[in-house]
Amino acid sequence: MDEKNHDTGLSRRNFLKTAGAAGLAAGLMPAGVSAQSAAPQAGTMPRRKLGKTGVEVPVLGLGGMFDTVNNQLLLKQAHAWGVTYWDTAEGYGGGLSEEGMGRYFSRNPGARKDIFLVSKFSHKGSGQDNTARLEAGLKRLQTDYLDLFFVHAISSIDDMTPFKDWAKAMKAAGKMKYFGFSTHTNMEDCLLGAAKLDWIDAAMITYNYRLMHTPKMREAMDSCAKAGIGLVAMKTQGGGPVKTDSEAELKLAGRFLEKGFTDKQARLKAVWEEPLIASICSQMPSLTILSANVACARDRASLAREDVDVFTKLAHATKDNYCAGCGAICQGAVDGLVPVNDVMRCLMYYRDYGDRDLAREVFASLPEETRARLLDVDYSTAERACPQGLAIAQLMREASSLLA
Ligand code: SF4
Repeated sequence: MDEKNHDTGLSRRNFLKTAGAAGLAAGLMPAGVSAQSAAPQAGTMPRRKLGKTGVEVPVLGLGGMFDTVNNQLLLKQAHAWGVTYWDTAEGYGGGLSEEGMGRYFSRNPGARKDIFLVSKFSHKGSGQDNTARLEAGLKRLQTDYLDLFFVHAISSIDDMTPFKDWAKAMKAAGKMKYFGFSTHTNMEDCLLGAAKLDWIDAAMITYNYRLMHTPKMREAMDSCAKAGIGLVAMKTQGGGPVKTDSEAELKLAGRFLEKGFTDKQARLKAVWEEPLIASICSQMPSLTILSANVACARDRASLAREDVDVFTKLAHATKDNYCAGCGAICQGAVDGLVPVNDVMRCLMYYRDYGDRDLAREVFASLPEETRARLLDVDYSTAERACPQGLAIAQLMREASSLLA
């Protein structure tokens, strides 16, 4: 899921510009690198093809990691504004995410066919039968099928192996149309591995201005494109877990406000510059965030080349603010005793999303013995190996204090 856009949403100036469809172009130059985002009809949601599925999905999708039972108006507005890629999961919102989407489909006959519905559950599971888990989700969603099912949060392509025959059977039974995975750990290796398989249709990955220019990510994306694997981006704001709102970021916010839009919107645009990303799955639990992101998605202008460069420089200058999800490095350095980047992700939920309940819930889902040993592990080798230069030991102490 994308991080929440916490700030203001649309300024009046930007809203008026967006309503006028061409206004932002006055402050921007076409970068010439975003063919698929070019020239959507004014006021409509652009769509891109999701790899070999051939399905055209909106460039902005609704991340549903919240209680949608009590947010029916938000679902209605997302639907009306063309945000028709909906992402949920077995555990989101304590189960209330799938349930709320199901309620919407039940109360709005005909809506289901408009929505590209995605759900997922973890490969770690709870010893339950996968088919039973899928069917329970379909029941909560009040539908017979998913458009796309993801095995949730894999950290190695080997995590997919047990699902190969099962996915084929579920497709044949009409319970899912397409199959793939989500990952925020070792993303590049997962994608490179997936590109060698012929039974992965799509993947959702952490992807933002901090990760998009590395050679390994480039190689992974190109490999997936060749294999026809459709790509969806999440966590596109590139926040956390150390801190946000550094001096450099405040300067950035000022730069984009001068152009009439927020830095949060600019971060989305940076991701849309990559044509291989079919959609951004964005966590949008409020109408303010939804309207800001929809306006940004509908806007025709690309970021100027110098704006993209600003992001690249910011990523470098604030490198030690961000955990890049390369968990194999730090976990290997602590002999697998602590899933460091899972703990970092909890810190990100706490600090960047501002969602303390979610942070504590995810932290509590880690094995008890793992949480208990958090302060007893020597992280010095991991710190030396961390390409982002993170103060891992200090961050683990903070996690223990904030999340336990
Ligand atoms: S702590 Fe460092 S090595 Fe570990 S996942 Fe994060 S960036 Fe990678």
